[in-house]
Amino acid sequence: MSLRDIPAMHRLLGEPRIAGFSALLGPRTVKDAIDDVVEPIRRSAGNSDSVVPPFDAIVAAVCARLSVTEREGLLEVINGTGILLHTNLGRAPLAREAVDAIGSVASGYSNLEFDLETGARGSRYERIGGLLSELSGAEDGLVVNNCAAAVLLILDTFAKNREVVIGRNQLIEIGGGFRLPDVLKRSGAVLVEVGTTNKMYVRDFEQALTPRTALLFRSHQSNFQIEGFVSDVAPAELVRLGRRAGIPVVEDLGSGALVDLADYALPHERTVIEAVRDGVDLVAFSGDKLLGGPQAGLIVGSKPMIARLRANPLLRALRVDKATLAALGATLRLYLEPEGTKRIPLYAMLAQSVEALRERAAQIQTRLGEHAKHVRIADSEAYAGGGTLPMARLASAALAIRAPRSDPNALAAALRRERPPIVSRIVGDELLLDLRTIRPDQDESVAATLRRRLEKNSADS
Ligand SMILES: *Cc1c(COP(=O)(O)O)cnc(C)c1O
Repeated sequence: MSLRDIPAMHRLLGEPRIAGFSALLGPRTVKDAIDDVVEPIRRSAGNSDSVVPPFDAIVAAVCARLSVTEREGLLEVINGTGILLHTNLGRAPLAREAVDAIGSVASGYSNLEFDLETGARGSRYERIGGLLSELSGAEDGLVVNNCAAAVLLILDTFAKNREVVIGRNQLIEIGGGFRLPDVLKRSGAVLVEVGTTNKMYVRDFEQALTPRTALLFRSHQSNFQIEGFVSDVAPAELVRLGRRAGIPVVEDLGSGALVDLADYALPHERTVIEAVRDGVDLVAFSGDKLLGGPQAGLIVGSKPMIARLRANPLLRALRVDKATLAALGATLRLYLEPEGTKRIPLYAMLAQSVEALRERAAQIQTRLGEHAKHVRIADSEAYAGGGTLPMARLASAALAIRAPRSDPNALAAALRRERPPIVSRIVGDELLLDLRTIRPDQDESVAATLRRRLEKNSADS
């Protein structure tokens, strides 16, 4: 073939099917897409056996590339993984009330930092502080961007150039590159490790105290568990030591449950309320884990310590926006209402019975008509995810699919290309769609997509 057979850039740019994308994505993106398609053709032009694809095929390839780009914005996806707090899928879905609250403050102005009584400047943190202390039992509370930021702010405020004592069983790494020892170092605190990986005693902490000790630090073993020959220091014991020595105790709780998960057939998870009741001086936790709210880092604790955090100039760099505050406030208020927790999607998902999930799976299967034979209703196990409750398995139900002429990986990829994309889990040679993380109002869309997919697979075979 000859280089001259390859359509020129200007011809492709002028082609109406491609030109339409210029207005949508900008000319540079369109040129790049053309290059991406044309370059490999140009490179192989030297081979005697290569042929230049027809003009229409090149246009189609460019358009396909561009339509993927167009959709690369943030999209709603259907979560069929059975992982409730999937960090890669945005962790906790928000309650209707939280979404409405965002809508009402986001499209216009709000009293974010404005006192409607006096007409003077107010604090964006005040309203949330009251709700947080109401719900946790702590004196006061503060919100920042996420729990990582909360820990950073605490260390920067109280432990800069001073020592923080922490057990070796708690030097955690959680997802996304948050390693506690590294965060400590970054904040200018000096890490003092005590005890061993499996055995911790209160005397380990006691022996490590020096005039430079700023904090006793406890971190939740969120995403792992140590079993066997182990002992740990109870938080209340650490608090007693802290009180005796006049050193505050800080707990990085991470998951941040306000309710007892044992009510949802899960292992009990230490709650924020328990940490406060144990006397921990500052408790940090996430907004979008077991709280079921927006991404945020919450800190509750004693009034004077929260006041010092508020006065730290670093807070300015970690501050949350009005949409977060609106969603967080609405979510927290649901905890104050009787039965309000049920309206938080995370707890609605947890509360569904396996029978109800099986029933929904059966209804979807029925809607597949003749293709139902490729699908069975399987027992499944759902997970809390998001670095919480790593050992807990939640009985669940799933659609297990074996598409004709398609291995499960190919089917999973095809489902991800659907709109809305469906994200699944593969077990053995089956693709699983776990009903626990699929919203009931998405069942119809799942059924329609599956039907279309299976129809196509059958036609291809
Ligand atoms: C999840 C977690 C964090 C980080 O929370 P983000 O809100 O994601 O920043 C910190 N500490 C612990 C113990 C956690 O489990």
